[in-house]
Amino acid sequence: MARIKPRLRKILRFVPEEITDWSSRDFLAVTDKSGNEGVLIYQDTTVPFILSPRVARAGGKVSAVICDICATWRPDPESAVFTLPKGDSRSVSYLVCADLDCSLHVRGMTDAGILSRSQIHEDITPDRRQERLRERITAILT
Ligand SMILES: [Zn+2]
Repeated sequence: MARIKPRLRKILRFVPEEITDWSSRDFLAVTDKSGNEGVLIYQDTTVPFILSPRVARAGGKVSAVICDICATWRPDPESAVFTLPKGDSRSVSYLVCADLDCSLHVRGMTDAGILSRSQIHEDITPDRRQERLRERITAILT
């Protein structure tokens, strides 16, 4: 398990009242005030992460993505780069939902989740979507 640095511990902003739908969340993301860094809590694992905006190539636009965690289709402004340290100075990045509300998207509890179904014509059950999210989170964290 990655160690949470004292500096990060100090700036984390955890306000339980602001977190909706506790029972529908497979994981929890607790961030600093800006939302740019935080910790992801999944089962008994807590890892630090950096969340940064996606950057367009020169003259180009960034395009919509499919979230690496929940497979929800997200237009550019609703996506972000999620970076996890992997020991020493290495890190690994994923394209994800900027809100990190992936658990709610797979359960069809958000507009984004509903829109995604029609964008990518995905026809699997909510149970299977939740299962896939847990498989991906496990893969990302190990
Ligand atoms: Zn997502």
